[in-house]
Amino acid sequence: MKLNIDQRLLQSEIDALAGYSSEPPPVVTRVVYSRADREARVYVKGLFADAGLEVREDAVGNTFARWVGSDPELAPIGTGSHIDAIPNAGKYDGVVGVLGGLEAIRALQRGGFRPRRSIELLLFTAEEPTRFGIGCPGSRMLSGVLTVEAAGKLRDAEGESLDGLRAAAGFCGELSGVALPRGYFEYFVELHIEQGPLLEREGLSIGIVQSIAAPAGLNVLIEGEGGHAGTVLMPDRKDAFLAGAELALAIEGLTLELGGLDTVATVGTCNVFPGAVNSIPSRVQMSLDLRDTDGARRDRVLDAVGVAAKEIAVRRRVAIATELLNADAPASCDPNIIEAVRAACEAHGVTYREMVSRAYHGSLFMDQVCPMGMIFIPCRGGVSHRPDEYSSPEQIAAGALVLAETLARLAGGGE
Ligand SMILES: [Zn+2]
Repeated sequence: MKLNIDQRLLQSEIDALAGYSSEPPPVVTRVVYSRADREARVYVKGLFADAGLEVREDAVGNTFARWVGSDPELAPIGTGSHIDAIPNAGKYDGVVGVLGGLEAIRALQRGGFRPRRSIELLLFTAEEPTRFGIGCPGSRMLSGVLTVEAAGKLRDAEGESLDGLRAAAGFCGELSGVALPRGYFEYFVELHIEQGPLLEREGLSIGIVQSIAAPAGLNVLIEGEGGHAGTVLMPDRKDAFLAGAELALAIEGLTLELGGLDTVATVGTCNVFPGAVNSIPSRVQMSLDLRDTDGARRDRVLDAVGVAAKEIAVRRRVAIATELLNADAPASCDPNIIEAVRAACEAHGVTYREMVSRAYHGSLFMDQVCPMGMIFIPCRGGVSHRPDEYSSPEQIAAGALVLAETLARLAGGGE
């Protein structure tokens, strides 16, 4: 169908939303439930209402804005993303999916389209792990992957509980009401910046996501024996850091050996105690972030890491304890959504390629609720989570256009 994206309006809203930040521009810092986040929500909800959408919020602030279809009993088509931003971030991550989703709906409205299924725009209360140390808390709760009990235990670095923080932000009600029933949406499709370099490098407008890689997180604690760096001779040492170093290299080796191209492992933190130049490390805390598009393959690497840890512990006479923080299931995008996005690109002469999402998004958890898909647009240099994150107004408009056409195809209906 003929669709006009108001590129200038969309860009002005993206720029305005970037003004809701805890730090001055060009930095965007918008941690969930912070003042900047609360004010940003007011602004965005105003835009939803202006478009004639019915807005509701759940007990943690996931926000739903519905364009009621001609057959309101049918499960709606969902779209949306997040507006929270990690410290020192830019203005496009997540935002493109929320405001681009809104503009997609407005473009359909302007074109005189009347959807058969309702179209519901969803703002996940948070996608970033900044506040609670766990990624995608909003969609995790919507999907039920994060249970009510576990959500009740979430605390931020200051020790503030989710319950206290959500109440202060004006969100009350039972956490048990947050999880969506399976099939709540007929389909869910999220527009997002790629956060990688492939689309820009190949000069393409759209990435049609085939699957989303999922992370497993491991906390590793190594207990050795401290001592004087001068007096304890090498054969007598139980150096916790050297055991950790060996484990980190074993993780790399096992990932290369047992994993595939999509298997990636990162030891991103390593805290050494007591942390003095003349003291043998007695204790080490390390983290492992292991991701793959193939959950079974990832878990084989994870198992092998456990075996390696045991072997290193025995040989080096230290204790190694591992705690599995999360092991999320990777998700495949739904073939019908992939086909609808492809058809939308073809209908509007927009270039595209298929790709894997190596970062995870709210859609990874929405996969537990309904079939899902994702649409990527290019971002300059593949840069994200930085103030210089950038997608051009034209690139964003192309994404909104393809999303609008996709939503129309999935919702059914006509002019
Ligand atoms: Zn994001």
